[in-house]
Amino acid sequence: MRKPVIAGNWKMNKTVEESRSLVYDLSIGLRDIKGVEKVLLPPYLSILTAAALLEGTDIGLGAQNLHWEEKGAFTGEISAQMIAEFCQYVLIGHSERRTYFGESDETVNKKIFSAIAHNLIPIVCVGETLGEKETGQTGEVLVRQILNGLKDVTKEYVSAIIIAYEPVWAIGTGKASSAEDARNVIRDIIRPVLQEMYGVQAANSTRVLYGGSVTAANASGFFVHEDIDGALVGGASLKADEFVKITQAGAG
Ligand code: PEP
Repeated sequence: MRKPVIAGNWKMNKTVEESRSLVYDLSIGLRDIKGVEKVLLPPYLSILTAAALLEGTDIGLGAQNLHWEEKGAFTGEISAQMIAEFCQYVLIGHSERRTYFGESDETVNKKIFSAIAHNLIPIVCVGETLGEKETGQTGEVLVRQILNGLKDVTKEYVSAIIIAYEPVWAIGTGKASSAEDARNVIRDIIRPVLQEMYGVQAANSTRVLYGGSVTAANASGFFVHEDIDGALVGGASLKADEFVKITQAGAG
């Protein structure tokens, strides 16, 4: 049995004070929801405040990015070692990082190794652009992102990794994928690659989420499909009531 995960990617939103208020509301709203892993991914500056507020709760915390080096002359960067003092998760290879900051499957791969070395659970994003979808390249793109992103990651670690299937055309656009299409991609493309790389058992125990314009209104449609193990939520994770409803849907 794969435990569902609902993760909220706040992106570059919320000051520390605003984060305090959102985390407080979420800690109350999410308190009684069981059977689902709840994860908040605030901006770096809000992590300490969130960690203090979440102490003693079952709500997990993560960062939205990391640098793969431990420490040193990398101005403006944050390492896995630093993140691991306060967090259990880290987002890797979000399409906004790939598009605006030049991240590649190779840097994703280095980041995964660094996260694993510090016992952080990587949430690794993969997904095709609209152009790639329209030219029938979805399968090829996803296979490449997974093969290269997870290169040399061994079987013992793969089921600790969470994959988020996030079609780029669905992120922040209000145009979510249909639940059936997302299920088909996960079932027919993503799990088979994992199976080819790691065998049936490891592939079946790896959680694969859907992300892209998930809202309280459409969330449950995704979670009826057993191949979809939860959601990575962007915009809707900034509103406590909306994120609570999505998490409730994820808990079933
Ligand atoms: C995301 O940032 O990962 C995301 C899926 O955003 P949104 O839910 O706003 O589409």
